[in-house]
Amino acid sequence: MASAECIFCKIVRGELESTKVYEDEDFFAFEDINPQARVHTLVIPKAHITGIEETDDPALLGKLLLAGKKVAQLKGVDRSGYRLVINSGKDAGQTVFHLHLHVIGGELLNPRMA
Ligand code: AMP
Ligand code: ZN
Repeated sequence: MASAECIFCKIVRGELESTKVYEDEDFFAFEDINPQARVHTLVIPKAHITGIEETDDPALLGKLLLAGKKVAQLKGVDRSGYRLVINSGKDAGQTVFHLHLHVIGGELLNPRMA
């Protein structure tokens, strides 16, 4: 899908509403519309990258994780704990093909991850 129609690109451009949690030069974070825990925030690169399989850029991927940590701090779950998740492809159930990191926490999470 081209970035023109991508819903997460639309969120970055402000064409689709979102609840912003964090933003820097390269990343944007906003609340998941269908939260799976008390805290469920998505962190995305502003650049349109379809998923983790599309990039081998260590700086981008490293900074994505650091932005996830920052969001965990902003949401107040850095001390209680949280989970960072990236779904990739069909078996993982990826539904939006713009790379995103889920920051999930605010409650005791299911120890079973799959
Ligand atoms: P994934 O299954 O990893 O592709 O996750 C996609 C996530 O995007 C899901 O948790 C959705 O609830 C979330 N989502 C889809 N559309 C929106 C939207 N417009 N605003 C916020 N979150 C969204
Ligand atoms: Zn996009």
